[in-house]
Amino acid sequence: MSEFDLIRRHFTRPTPGALLGVGDDAALLQVSVGNVLAVSSDMLVCGTHFLPDADPFLLGHKTLAVNLSDMAAMGAAPRWATLAIALPEADEAWLAQFSAGFFALARQHGVELVGGDTTRGPLNLCVTIFGEVPAQQALRRSGAQVGDEIWVSGRLGDAALALAHLQGRIALSAAELAACLPALHQPQPRVALGLALRGIASSAIDISDGLLADLGHILEASQVGAQLDFAALPASPALNNCASQTLARQCILSGGDDYELCFTSSAARHAELSEIAARLDLPLVRIGKIVAGRGCIVHDASGNPLNIEACGYDHFR
Ligand code: ADP
Ligand code: MG
Repeated sequence: MSEFDLIRRHFTRPTPGALLGVGDDAALLQVSVGNVLAVSSDMLVCGTHFLPDADPFLLGHKTLAVNLSDMAAMGAAPRWATLAIALPEADEAWLAQFSAGFFALARQHGVELVGGDTTRGPLNLCVTIFGEVPAQQALRRSGAQVGDEIWVSGRLGDAALALAHLQGRIALSAAELAACLPALHQPQPRVALGLALRGIASSAIDISDGLLADLGHILEASQVGAQLDFAALPASPALNNCASQTLARQCILSGGDDYELCFTSSAARHAELSEIAARLDLPLVRIGKIVAGRGCIVHDASGNPLNIEACGYDHFR
């Protein structure tokens, strides 16, 4: 199979939302009047982000999901994507599964694959995603204000707990594993939440490197501090009942790969947030507040500060 057959067969689908899609030297895209482009890239490297035997359908899903999550965190509506892929060999069955997983999620979110690059090399997947948002409504990291409340969607730490099990650091029951494995392999990007938070959230970020690390980026960009209530952090029964509470705490505070949204908003927006949570059938939980100063303090159930040594995963540390 030639490179061009491979692209035609596995990565070419109709793109009615683009002036020109796959097949020329560049795609041509028209942004709607009043919007600006939100652009972001995320790369998944074999050995770093997934193992060589990873299920290709789920990998296709996750490759796009992590990028959709960045659109969600900006309050942008995802429109188009490009895919740069390095493959050790042209494995037809693998490519068919990978593209099926990718396009299944793309269809759900109305995203069109409009181009990319395909080369031979160690397995590596890089998506660039393009979304639209009215410039003034983009959810930046820099907008948190003293007195704002801090919220997260969904549950924290499931992906890290599943990974700990797969790495043999803890043994989960079959039911517990089944409950947290989807967070690791099939994260659900909170795109609808990001759109709903336009005009309501003062800042937002998606949690890819762990709550403390990612909230830390909001605090730094907004030049504020935070107080969190550990007991309020939403976690699965498997984490709450975990034999090692040290591990559970690490998963909840610093586990990566959750792809939930962490955002801040004024206390005056409670009713709107409850309405959004109900409409999207997605739990939104208030976990703390923004304070003057710098850094983040996490209080335990008795109000004492937790010693938070572990921080988010940093590739170069
Ligand atoms: P060029 O040589 O101009 O870079 P390529 O031969 O790399 O063009 O690609 C041909 C066309 O196929 C281009 O439109 C490119 O965007 C698209 N393409 C290449 N690889 C992929 C891919 N993995 N997914 C989607 N489109 C791709
Ligand atoms: Mg090329």
